[in-house]
Amino acid sequence: MLDPEFLNILACPACESRPPLKEDAAGSRLVCTVCGRGYPIRDGIPIMVSEDHG
Ligand SMILES: [Zn+2]
Repeated sequence: MLDPEFLNILACPACESRPPLKEDAAGSRLVCTVCGRGYPIRDGIPIMVSEDHG
């Protein structure tokens, strides 16, 4: 689980509105609440590069 305060400062780099991200059910990645792109979490560090394009 990521620190909720840390999660608060993260935003989707693919969306101009910089929407918040949420952890998925497994806690293995962050998902944009707007575009649905997923960002993997490795060793507790979110990798802010989208896995899927489009
Ligand atoms: Zn997004």
